[in-house]
Amino acid sequence: MEHKFIFVAGGVMSGVGKGVACASIGKILQSKGYKVTAIKIDPYINVDAGTMNPTEHGEVFVTEDGDETDQDIGNYERFLDQNILATNYMTTGRVYLSVIQRERNLEYEGKCVEVVPHVPEEVINRIKNAAQLAKADFTLVEIGGTVGEYQNILFLEAVRMLRSQMPNDVMVVLVSYLPIPSKVGEMKTKPTQTAVRTLNSAGIFPDFILCRSDMPLDEVRKQKLATFCNISKENAISAPDVENIYEIPLNFEKEELGDKILTKFGLKSKAKNLEDWQKLVDIAKRAKQEVKIGIVGKYFSTGQFTLSDSYISVIEAIKHAAWFHKRKPILTWLNSEKFEKDPKELENLKELDGIIVPGGFGSRGTEGKIMVIKYCRENNLPYLGLCYGMQLAVIEFARHMAGLAKANSPEVDQKSPYHVVHIMPDQVEKIKQKKMGATMRLGAYPCVLAKDSISFKAYGRDKINERHRHRYEFNNEYRRLLVEKGLKIAGTSPDGKLVEIIEAPNHKFFVATQFHPEFKSRPLKPHPLFREFIKAAIS
Ligand code: GLN
Repeated sequence: MEHKFIFVAGGVMSGVGKGVACASIGKILQSKGYKVTAIKIDPYINVDAGTMNPTEHGEVFVTEDGDETDQDIGNYERFLDQNILATNYMTTGRVYLSVIQRERNLEYEGKCVEVVPHVPEEVINRIKNAAQLAKADFTLVEIGGTVGEYQNILFLEAVRMLRSQMPNDVMVVLVSYLPIPSKVGEMKTKPTQTAVRTLNSAGIFPDFILCRSDMPLDEVRKQKLATFCNISKENAISAPDVENIYEIPLNFEKEELGDKILTKFGLKSKAKNLEDWQKLVDIAKRAKQEVKIGIVGKYFSTGQFTLSDSYISVIEAIKHAAWFHKRKPILTWLNSEKFEKDPKELENLKELDGIIVPGGFGSRGTEGKIMVIKYCRENNLPYLGLCYGMQLAVIEFARHMAGLAKANSPEVDQKSPYHVVHIMPDQVEKIKQKKMGATMRLGAYPCVLAKDSISFKAYGRDKINERHRHRYEFNNEYRRLLVEKGLKIAGTSPDGKLVEIIEAPNHKFFVATQFHPEFKSRPLKPHPLFREFIKAAIS
Protein backbone atom coordinates (compact mmCIF):
# COMPACT_ATOMS: atom_id res chain seq x y z
CA MET A 1 0.00 0.00 0.00
CA GLU A 2 1.17 3.57 -0.75
CA HIS A 3 1.92 5.75 2.26
CA LYS A 4 -1.19 7.69 3.23
CA PHE A 5 -0.95 11.14 4.78
CA ILE A 6 -3.54 12.71 7.05
CA PHE A 7 -3.00 16.37 7.86
CA VAL A 8 -4.59 17.85 10.96
CA ALA A 9 -5.03 21.62 11.08
CA GLY A 10 -6.74 23.82 13.63
CA GLY A 11 -9.55 26.34 13.11
CA VAL A 12 -10.86 29.33 15.09
CA MET A 13 -8.41 29.29 17.98
CA SER A 14 -5.47 27.54 19.52
CA GLY A 15 -5.76 25.05 22.33
CA VAL A 16 -8.59 23.07 20.79
CA GLY A 17 -6.71 19.80 21.20
CA LYS A 18 -5.30 19.17 17.73
CA GLY A 19 -2.48 17.11 19.20
CA VAL A 20 -4.76 14.78 21.09
CA ALA A 21 -7.15 14.62 18.11
CA CYS A 22 -4.25 13.68 15.87
CA ALA A 23 -3.00 11.07 18.35
CA SER A 24 -6.54 9.70 18.67
CA ILE A 25 -6.99 9.27 14.92
CA GLY A 26 -3.63 7.47 14.92
CA LYS A 27 -4.73 5.25 17.77
CA ILE A 28 -7.93 4.31 15.94
CA LEU A 29 -6.16 3.45 12.69
CA GLN A 30 -3.59 1.46 14.63
CA SER A 31 -6.38 -0.47 16.34
CA LYS A 32 -7.71 -1.35 12.89
CA GLY A 33 -4.48 -3.12 12.03
CA TYR A 34 -2.46 -0.39 10.31
CA LYS A 35 1.01 0.92 10.99
CA VAL A 36 0.89 4.54 12.04
CA THR A 37 3.34 7.32 12.75
CA ALA A 38 2.78 10.97 13.59
CA ILE A 39 4.61 14.20 12.86
CA LYS A 40 4.35 17.56 14.56
CA ILE A 41 4.99 20.81 12.71
CA ASP A 42 5.63 23.72 15.04
CA PRO A 43 5.49 27.09 13.26
CA TYR A 44 8.06 28.79 15.54
CA ILE A 45 11.40 30.12 14.31
CA ASN A 46 13.08 28.29 17.20
CA VAL A 47 14.92 25.31 15.77
CA ASP A 48 13.56 23.17 18.57
CA ALA A 49 11.39 23.49 21.64
CA GLY A 50 14.44 23.46 23.90
CA THR A 51 14.78 27.23 23.69
CA MET A 52 11.08 28.02 24.06
CA ASN A 53 9.53 29.39 27.24
CA PRO A 54 7.78 26.53 29.08
CA THR A 55 4.97 28.76 30.38
CA GLU A 56 4.20 29.92 26.86
CA HIS A 57 4.82 26.76 24.90
CA GLY A 58 4.42 23.99 27.47
CA GLU A 59 6.66 21.08 28.23
CA VAL A 60 9.77 20.25 26.24
CA PHE A 61 9.30 16.60 25.36
CA VAL A 62 12.59 14.74 24.87
CA THR A 63 12.68 11.89 22.38
CA GLU A 64 14.69 8.70 22.67
CA ASP A 65 17.23 10.12 20.19
CA GLY A 66 17.56 13.36 22.09
CA ASP A 67 15.41 15.87 20.22
CA GLU A 68 13.76 18.61 22.26
CA THR A 69 10.25 18.66 20.90
CA ASP A 70 6.71 19.84 21.42
CA GLN A 71 4.52 18.19 24.05
CA ASP A 72 2.31 16.72 21.33
CA ILE A 73 5.09 14.29 20.44
CA GLY A 74 4.50 13.02 23.97
CA ASN A 75 0.80 12.60 23.20
CA TYR A 76 1.67 10.59 20.10
CA GLU A 77 4.02 8.35 22.09
CA ARG A 78 1.42 7.77 24.79
CA PHE A 79 -1.50 7.11 22.44
CA LEU A 80 0.41 5.05 19.89
CA ASP A 81 2.60 3.31 22.47
CA GLN A 82 5.69 3.80 20.35
CA ASN A 83 8.79 5.95 20.36
CA ILE A 84 8.64 8.92 18.02
CA LEU A 85 12.01 10.14 16.78
CA ALA A 86 13.55 13.49 15.82
CA THR A 87 12.63 12.96 12.15
CA ASN A 88 8.99 13.48 13.20
CA TYR A 89 9.38 16.99 14.55
CA MET A 90 9.99 20.17 12.62
CA THR A 91 9.80 23.88 13.18
CA THR A 92 9.93 26.76 10.72
CA GLY A 93 13.45 27.41 12.00
CA ARG A 94 14.54 23.83 11.38
CA VAL A 95 13.10 23.81 7.86
CA TYR A 96 14.69 27.14 6.90
CA LEU A 97 17.99 26.12 8.43
CA SER A 98 18.26 23.09 6.17
CA VAL A 99 17.13 25.02 3.06
CA ILE A 100 19.78 27.66 3.74
CA GLN A 101 22.44 25.06 4.47
CA ARG A 102 21.61 23.31 1.19
CA GLU A 103 21.83 26.61 -0.65
CA ARG A 104 25.26 27.27 0.90
CA ASN A 105 26.38 23.83 -0.29
CA LEU A 106 25.22 24.61 -3.84
CA GLU A 107 22.76 21.75 -3.65
CA TYR A 108 20.24 23.81 -5.62
CA GLU A 109 22.81 23.86 -8.45
CA GLY A 110 22.95 27.62 -8.80
CA LYS A 111 19.18 28.12 -9.10
CA CYS A 112 17.44 30.98 -7.32
CA VAL A 113 16.17 29.53 -4.08
CA GLU A 114 12.67 30.74 -3.34
CA VAL A 115 10.31 30.59 -0.39
CA VAL A 116 7.85 28.80 -2.67
CA PRO A 117 8.39 26.09 -3.80
CA HIS A 118 11.65 25.34 -2.00
CA VAL A 119 10.44 25.69 1.57
CA PRO A 120 7.26 23.58 1.13
CA GLU A 121 9.33 21.07 -0.84
CA GLU A 122 11.67 20.73 2.12
CA VAL A 123 8.62 20.20 4.33
CA ILE A 124 7.28 17.51 2.00
CA ASN A 125 10.65 15.76 1.87
CA ARG A 126 10.79 15.66 5.62
CA ILE A 127 7.27 14.25 5.87
CA LYS A 128 7.95 11.56 3.26
CA ASN A 129 11.24 10.67 4.87
CA ALA A 130 9.62 10.21 8.28
CA ALA A 131 6.86 8.07 6.75
CA GLN A 132 9.44 5.89 5.04
CA LEU A 133 11.65 5.47 8.09
CA ALA A 134 8.65 4.47 10.19
CA LYS A 135 7.42 2.16 7.39
CA ALA A 136 4.04 3.64 8.17
CA ASP A 137 0.80 2.95 6.34
CA PHE A 138 -0.56 6.19 7.75
CA THR A 139 1.40 9.30 8.62
CA LEU A 140 -0.50 11.86 10.63
CA VAL A 141 0.85 15.37 10.36
CA GLU A 142 -0.29 17.98 12.83
CA ILE A 143 0.14 21.54 11.67
CA GLY A 144 0.66 23.81 14.65
CA GLY A 145 -1.08 27.16 14.90
CA THR A 146 -4.47 28.17 13.57
CA VAL A 147 -5.67 28.41 10.00
CA GLY A 148 -5.57 32.03 8.87
CA GLU A 149 -2.42 33.13 10.62
CA TYR A 150 0.74 33.96 8.70
CA GLN A 151 2.92 31.56 10.60
CA ASN A 152 1.75 28.29 9.12
CA ILE A 153 0.94 29.35 5.56
CA LEU A 154 3.98 27.61 4.06
CA PHE A 155 3.04 24.39 5.75
CA LEU A 156 -0.47 24.60 4.34
CA GLU A 157 1.11 25.21 0.94
CA ALA A 158 3.04 21.96 1.45
CA VAL A 159 -0.26 20.18 2.10
CA ARG A 160 -1.76 21.61 -1.09
CA MET A 161 1.29 20.63 -3.14
CA LEU A 162 1.43 17.11 -1.74
CA ARG A 163 -2.27 16.62 -2.31
CA SER A 164 -1.99 17.64 -5.92
CA GLN A 165 0.92 15.20 -6.34
CA MET A 166 -0.96 12.30 -4.79
CA PRO A 167 -4.68 13.16 -4.60
CA ASN A 168 -5.71 9.68 -3.49
CA ASP A 169 -3.28 9.42 -0.64
CA VAL A 170 -3.76 12.70 1.20
CA MET A 171 -6.55 13.74 3.52
CA VAL A 172 -7.14 16.84 5.59
CA VAL A 173 -8.89 17.04 8.94
CA LEU A 174 -9.84 20.37 10.47
CA VAL A 175 -10.14 20.47 14.24
CA SER A 176 -12.32 23.47 14.90
CA TYR A 177 -14.04 25.17 17.78
CA LEU A 178 -17.77 25.80 18.02
CA PRO A 179 -18.56 28.29 20.77
CA ILE A 180 -21.79 28.35 22.77
CA PRO A 181 -21.98 32.01 23.88
CA SER A 182 -23.79 32.04 27.22
CA LYS A 183 -26.09 34.92 26.29
CA VAL A 184 -27.03 33.27 22.98
CA GLY A 185 -27.36 29.76 24.36
CA GLU A 186 -26.79 28.09 21.01
CA MET A 187 -23.77 26.40 19.44
CA LYS A 188 -22.45 28.59 16.62
CA THR A 189 -20.91 27.25 13.42
CA LYS A 190 -19.97 30.58 11.80
CA PRO A 191 -16.37 30.82 13.08
CA THR A 192 -15.79 27.31 11.71
CA GLN A 193 -17.35 28.25 8.36
CA THR A 194 -14.90 31.15 8.19
CA ALA A 195 -11.98 28.88 9.07
CA VAL A 196 -12.99 26.51 6.28
CA ARG A 197 -13.22 29.41 3.78
CA THR A 198 -9.73 30.47 4.81
CA LEU A 199 -8.48 26.93 4.25
CA ASN A 200 -10.25 26.89 0.88
CA SER A 201 -8.46 30.05 -0.16
CA ALA A 202 -5.19 28.22 0.53
CA GLY A 203 -6.42 25.60 -1.95
CA ILE A 204 -7.34 23.06 0.70
CA PHE A 205 -10.70 21.40 1.20
CA PRO A 206 -11.03 19.48 4.46
CA ASP A 207 -12.42 15.95 4.35
CA PHE A 208 -13.48 15.92 7.98
CA ILE A 209 -14.26 18.54 10.58
CA LEU A 210 -13.77 17.53 14.19
CA CYS A 211 -16.06 19.82 16.09
CA ARG A 212 -14.69 20.78 19.48
CA SER A 213 -17.23 22.21 21.83
CA ASP A 214 -18.59 22.02 25.36
CA MET A 215 -21.30 19.70 24.09
CA PRO A 216 -21.85 17.06 21.42
CA LEU A 217 -22.77 18.30 17.97
CA ASP A 218 -26.47 18.00 17.07
CA GLU A 219 -28.06 17.23 13.71
CA VAL A 220 -28.88 20.87 12.98
CA ARG A 221 -25.21 21.90 13.33
CA LYS A 222 -24.06 18.91 11.29
CA GLN A 223 -26.39 19.92 8.50
CA LYS A 224 -25.19 23.53 8.63
CA LEU A 225 -21.56 22.50 8.35
CA ALA A 226 -22.44 20.21 5.45
CA THR A 227 -24.23 23.03 3.65
CA PHE A 228 -21.57 25.67 4.14
CA CYS A 229 -18.30 23.78 4.43
CA ASN A 230 -18.41 21.39 1.51
CA ILE A 231 -18.31 18.19 3.52
CA SER A 232 -20.90 15.48 3.93
CA LYS A 233 -22.98 15.58 7.09
CA GLU A 234 -21.43 12.33 8.32
CA ASN A 235 -18.00 13.89 8.18
CA ALA A 236 -18.79 16.57 10.71
CA ILE A 237 -17.63 14.68 13.79
CA SER A 238 -18.68 15.54 17.29
CA ALA A 239 -15.81 16.19 19.70
CA PRO A 240 -17.25 17.40 23.00
CA ASP A 241 -15.14 18.19 26.07
CA VAL A 242 -14.21 15.09 28.03
CA GLU A 243 -13.08 14.35 31.57
CA ASN A 244 -10.28 12.12 30.38
CA ILE A 245 -8.36 12.61 27.11
CA TYR A 246 -8.06 8.86 26.66
CA GLU A 247 -11.81 8.77 25.99
CA ILE A 248 -11.36 10.69 22.77
CA PRO A 249 -10.53 7.79 20.43
CA LEU A 250 -13.57 5.97 21.83
CA ASN A 251 -15.77 9.00 21.24
CA PHE A 252 -14.57 9.34 17.65
CA GLU A 253 -15.26 5.68 17.12
CA LYS A 254 -18.87 6.20 18.24
CA GLU A 255 -19.14 8.17 15.00
CA GLU A 256 -17.16 5.50 13.12
CA LEU A 257 -14.43 7.95 12.22
CA GLY A 258 -11.91 5.16 11.64
CA ASP A 259 -14.03 3.32 9.09
CA LYS A 260 -15.01 6.56 7.40
CA ILE A 261 -11.33 7.44 6.91
CA LEU A 262 -10.48 3.96 5.67
CA THR A 263 -13.40 3.94 3.25
CA LYS A 264 -12.32 7.29 1.81
CA PHE A 265 -8.93 5.78 1.08
CA GLY A 266 -10.54 2.64 -0.34
CA LEU A 267 -9.31 0.52 2.57
CA LYS A 268 -10.89 -1.83 5.10
CA SER A 269 -10.44 -2.49 8.76
CA LYS A 270 -8.11 -5.44 9.40
CA ALA A 271 -8.58 -5.77 13.16
CA LYS A 272 -10.39 -4.33 16.10
CA ASN A 273 -8.77 -3.90 19.44
CA LEU A 274 -9.62 -0.81 21.39
CA GLU A 275 -10.79 -3.05 24.24
CA ASP A 276 -7.75 -2.46 26.44
CA TRP A 277 -8.23 1.22 25.97
CA GLN A 278 -11.90 1.00 26.86
CA LYS A 279 -10.97 -0.92 30.01
CA LEU A 280 -8.53 1.79 31.03
CA VAL A 281 -11.12 4.51 30.54
CA ASP A 282 -13.63 2.48 32.57
CA ILE A 283 -11.16 2.04 35.42
CA ALA A 284 -10.42 5.76 35.42
CA LYS A 285 -14.13 6.51 35.51
CA ARG A 286 -14.87 4.07 38.32
CA ALA A 287 -11.89 4.93 40.53
CA LYS A 288 -13.34 6.72 43.54
CA GLN A 289 -10.65 6.32 46.19
CA GLU A 290 -8.18 9.14 45.87
CA VAL A 291 -4.43 9.42 45.89
CA LYS A 292 -3.26 13.00 46.46
CA ILE A 293 -0.02 14.08 44.87
CA GLY A 294 1.61 17.48 45.17
CA ILE A 295 3.76 18.82 42.35
CA VAL A 296 6.17 21.54 43.40
CA GLY A 297 7.15 23.81 40.55
CA LYS A 298 7.24 27.32 39.23
CA TYR A 299 6.10 27.24 35.62
CA PHE A 300 2.43 27.63 36.47
CA SER A 301 1.06 31.05 35.90
CA THR A 302 0.40 33.17 32.84
CA GLY A 303 -1.21 36.41 33.94
CA GLN A 304 -4.20 35.41 36.02
CA PHE A 305 -4.35 31.86 34.74
CA THR A 306 -2.73 28.71 35.99
CA LEU A 307 -1.40 26.35 33.37
CA SER A 308 -0.04 22.90 33.97
CA ASP A 309 1.14 22.30 30.42
CA SER A 310 4.81 22.58 31.39
CA TYR A 311 4.50 19.34 33.32
CA ILE A 312 2.18 17.36 31.07
CA SER A 313 4.22 14.14 30.93
CA VAL A 314 4.55 14.14 34.71
CA ILE A 315 0.79 14.55 35.05
CA GLU A 316 0.06 11.78 32.58
CA ALA A 317 2.58 9.46 34.26
CA ILE A 318 0.85 10.03 37.61
CA LYS A 319 -2.53 9.23 36.05
CA HIS A 320 -1.26 6.02 34.42
CA ALA A 321 0.22 4.84 37.72
CA ALA A 322 -2.83 5.83 39.78
CA TRP A 323 -5.21 4.02 37.44
CA PHE A 324 -2.96 0.96 37.59
CA HIS A 325 -3.74 0.94 41.34
CA LYS A 326 -7.39 1.76 40.60
CA ARG A 327 -7.11 5.13 42.30
CA LYS A 328 -8.31 8.55 41.31
CA PRO A 329 -5.34 10.91 41.13
CA ILE A 330 -5.80 14.32 42.71
CA LEU A 331 -3.06 16.77 41.78
CA THR A 332 -2.18 19.79 43.82
CA TRP A 333 0.01 22.51 42.34
CA LEU A 334 2.42 23.89 44.87
CA ASN A 335 4.29 27.03 44.00
CA SER A 336 7.66 26.55 45.67
CA GLU A 337 8.04 30.26 46.43
CA LYS A 338 5.21 30.16 48.93
CA PHE A 339 7.24 27.91 51.25
CA GLU A 340 10.07 30.44 51.16
CA LYS A 341 7.70 33.23 52.15
CA ASP A 342 6.03 31.25 54.89
CA PRO A 343 7.63 28.01 56.13
CA LYS A 344 4.43 27.23 58.04
CA GLU A 345 2.96 26.31 54.66
CA LEU A 346 4.99 23.09 54.95
CA GLU A 347 2.46 21.82 57.49
CA ASN A 348 -0.12 21.59 54.72
CA LEU A 349 1.96 18.89 53.05
CA LYS A 350 0.47 16.54 55.66
CA GLU A 351 -2.69 16.48 53.57
CA LEU A 352 -0.84 14.90 50.65
CA ASP A 353 0.11 11.28 49.99
CA GLY A 354 3.21 11.98 47.94
CA ILE A 355 5.33 14.77 46.49
CA ILE A 356 7.04 15.25 43.16
CA VAL A 357 9.66 17.87 42.38
CA PRO A 358 9.91 17.82 38.59
CA GLY A 359 12.54 19.24 36.23
CA GLY A 360 13.42 22.89 36.28
CA PHE A 361 16.03 25.53 35.62
CA GLY A 362 17.50 28.57 37.35
CA SER A 363 17.48 29.70 40.94
CA ARG A 364 13.94 31.00 41.46
CA GLY A 365 12.01 28.84 43.89
CA THR A 366 14.80 26.34 44.58
CA GLU A 367 14.99 27.07 48.33
CA GLY A 368 11.27 26.35 48.64
CA LYS A 369 11.73 23.06 46.81
CA ILE A 370 14.61 22.12 49.12
CA MET A 371 12.37 22.83 52.13
CA VAL A 372 9.72 20.51 50.73
CA ILE A 373 12.28 17.79 50.02
CA LYS A 374 13.56 18.01 53.61
CA TYR A 375 10.02 17.72 54.87
CA CYS A 376 9.45 14.57 52.78
CA ARG A 377 12.70 12.97 53.88
CA GLU A 378 12.15 13.66 57.55
CA ASN A 379 8.46 12.78 57.62
CA ASN A 380 8.57 9.59 55.58
CA LEU A 381 6.36 11.21 52.92
CA PRO A 382 6.87 9.47 49.54
CA TYR A 383 9.06 11.59 47.31
CA LEU A 384 9.90 11.30 43.65
CA GLY A 385 12.48 13.76 42.32
CA LEU A 386 12.89 14.23 38.59
CA CYS A 387 16.12 15.76 37.27
CA TYR A 388 16.26 19.08 39.15
CA GLY A 389 14.25 17.25 41.79
CA MET A 390 17.22 14.89 42.14
CA GLN A 391 19.88 17.58 42.16
CA LEU A 392 18.00 19.52 44.84
CA ALA A 393 17.55 16.33 46.87
CA VAL A 394 21.33 15.85 46.82
CA ILE A 395 21.78 19.44 47.98
CA GLU A 396 19.22 18.97 50.76
CA PHE A 397 20.94 15.81 51.94
CA ALA A 398 24.38 17.44 51.86
CA ARG A 399 23.15 20.41 53.88
CA HIS A 400 21.20 18.60 56.54
CA MET A 401 22.79 15.16 56.79
CA ALA A 402 26.43 15.78 55.87
CA GLY A 403 27.03 19.12 57.54
CA LEU A 404 27.66 21.02 54.28
CA ALA A 405 25.51 23.96 55.28
CA LYS A 406 25.70 26.08 52.17
CA ALA A 407 25.82 23.24 49.66
CA ASN A 408 24.32 24.19 46.31
CA SER A 409 24.55 23.92 42.55
CA PRO A 410 26.44 26.59 40.60
CA GLU A 411 23.22 27.02 38.65
CA VAL A 412 21.81 28.60 41.83
CA ASP A 413 24.84 29.86 43.72
CA GLN A 414 28.20 30.25 42.00
CA LYS A 415 29.86 31.10 45.30
CA SER A 416 28.69 28.12 47.34
CA PRO A 417 31.66 26.44 49.09
CA TYR A 418 30.20 22.99 48.35
CA HIS A 419 29.08 22.39 44.81
CA VAL A 420 27.65 18.93 45.47
CA VAL A 421 26.01 19.33 42.07
CA HIS A 422 28.28 20.78 39.41
CA ILE A 423 28.35 21.57 35.74
CA MET A 424 29.13 18.59 33.50
CA PRO A 425 32.70 19.06 32.23
CA ASP A 426 31.73 19.05 28.54
CA GLN A 427 29.16 21.78 29.18
CA VAL A 428 31.68 24.41 30.29
CA GLU A 429 32.98 25.17 26.81
CA LYS A 430 29.48 25.13 25.27
CA ILE A 431 28.23 27.73 27.71
CA LYS A 432 31.34 29.89 27.26
CA GLN A 433 30.72 29.94 23.52
CA LYS A 434 26.99 30.53 24.10
CA LYS A 435 26.16 27.32 22.26
CA MET A 436 22.91 26.79 24.13
CA GLY A 437 20.59 25.14 21.59
CA ALA A 438 20.36 21.33 21.74
CA THR A 439 23.62 21.11 23.73
CA MET A 440 22.42 19.64 27.02
CA ARG A 441 22.92 15.97 27.79
CA LEU A 442 19.92 14.80 25.81
CA GLY A 443 18.11 11.59 25.01
CA ALA A 444 18.29 8.02 26.25
CA TYR A 445 21.31 6.67 28.10
CA PRO A 446 21.82 3.33 29.85
CA CYS A 447 21.88 3.11 33.62
CA VAL A 448 22.79 0.24 35.93
CA LEU A 449 20.86 -0.24 39.15
CA ALA A 450 22.11 -1.28 42.58
CA LYS A 451 20.51 -4.61 43.40
CA ASP A 452 19.46 -3.62 46.91
CA SER A 453 17.64 -0.46 45.87
CA ILE A 454 13.99 0.52 45.72
CA SER A 455 14.58 1.37 42.05
CA PHE A 456 15.84 -2.13 41.24
CA LYS A 457 12.78 -3.61 42.89
CA ALA A 458 10.54 -1.31 40.88
CA TYR A 459 12.08 -2.07 37.49
CA GLY A 460 12.68 -5.75 38.23
CA ARG A 461 15.97 -5.65 36.31
CA ASP A 462 19.33 -3.99 36.66
CA LYS A 463 19.83 -2.44 33.23
CA ILE A 464 17.56 0.39 32.18
CA ASN A 465 17.52 3.12 29.58
CA GLU A 466 16.07 6.53 30.36
CA ARG A 467 15.88 9.98 28.80
CA HIS A 468 17.86 12.98 29.95
CA ARG A 469 17.91 16.74 29.62
CA HIS A 470 20.41 18.52 31.84
CA ARG A 471 23.71 20.41 32.04
CA TYR A 472 24.54 19.73 35.69
CA GLU A 473 25.25 16.47 37.51
CA PHE A 474 26.06 14.92 40.87
CA ASN A 475 29.60 15.91 41.85
CA ASN A 476 31.63 12.76 42.55
CA GLU A 477 34.01 14.65 44.84
CA TYR A 478 31.30 14.43 47.46
CA ARG A 479 30.20 10.90 46.71
CA ARG A 480 32.13 9.17 49.48
CA LEU A 481 31.04 11.59 52.14
CA LEU A 482 27.38 11.53 51.16
CA VAL A 483 27.32 7.74 50.92
CA GLU A 484 28.97 7.53 54.36
CA LYS A 485 26.17 9.70 55.68
CA GLY A 486 23.62 7.29 54.31
CA LEU A 487 22.73 8.53 50.82
CA LYS A 488 22.12 5.57 48.53
CA ILE A 489 23.49 5.64 45.01
CA ALA A 490 20.84 3.46 43.39
CA GLY A 491 21.81 3.88 39.74
CA THR A 492 24.83 4.99 37.72
CA SER A 493 25.98 5.08 34.13
CA PRO A 494 27.49 1.67 33.18
CA ASP A 495 31.03 2.98 33.81
CA GLY A 496 29.94 3.98 37.30
CA LYS A 497 30.88 7.61 36.79
CA LEU A 498 27.56 9.43 36.50
CA VAL A 499 25.14 9.21 39.37
CA GLU A 500 21.70 8.72 37.84
CA ILE A 501 19.53 7.76 40.84
CA ILE A 502 19.75 8.49 44.55
CA GLU A 503 17.61 7.16 47.36
CA ALA A 504 17.31 8.19 51.01
CA PRO A 505 17.78 5.53 53.69
CA ASN A 506 15.02 4.21 55.94
CA HIS A 507 12.27 5.73 53.94
CA LYS A 508 9.04 4.37 52.51
CA PHE A 509 9.87 5.78 49.09
CA PHE A 510 12.42 8.48 48.47
CA VAL A 511 13.78 8.12 44.95
CA ALA A 512 15.24 10.85 42.77
CA THR A 513 16.49 10.43 39.23
CA GLN A 514 18.80 12.52 37.05
CA PHE A 515 16.70 11.36 34.10
CA HIS A 516 13.05 11.97 33.27
CA PRO A 517 11.12 8.71 33.69
CA GLU A 518 7.86 10.55 32.91
CA PHE A 519 8.67 10.57 29.19
CA LYS A 520 8.42 6.81 29.00
CA SER A 521 5.18 6.23 30.85
CA ARG A 522 2.33 4.88 28.72
CA PRO A 523 -1.35 4.62 29.63
CA LEU A 524 -1.36 0.83 29.71
CA LYS A 525 2.26 0.52 30.87
CA PRO A 526 2.79 2.88 33.78
CA HIS A 527 6.40 3.69 34.48
CA PRO A 528 7.80 1.41 37.22
CA LEU A 529 9.05 4.31 39.37
CA PHE A 530 5.73 6.15 39.17
CA ARG A 531 3.89 2.89 39.80
CA GLU A 532 5.86 2.19 42.99
CA PHE A 533 5.75 5.82 44.07
CA ILE A 534 1.96 5.80 43.88
CA LYS A 535 1.86 2.45 45.65
CA ALA A 536 3.89 3.93 48.50
CA ALA A 537 1.67 7.01 48.50
CA ILE A 538 -1.43 4.83 48.84
CA SER A 539 0.09 2.85 51.70
N1 GLN B 1 18.69 22.66 35.61
C1 GLN B 1 19.22 21.33 35.81
C2 GLN B 1 20.30 20.99 34.80
O1 GLN B 1 20.40 21.63 33.78
C3 GLN B 1 18.11 20.31 35.75
C4 GLN B 1 17.48 20.21 34.40
C5 GLN B 1 16.13 19.54 34.42
O2 GLN B 1 15.49 19.46 35.46
N2 GLN B 1 15.67 19.09 33.27
O3 GLN B 1 21.06 20.09 35.01
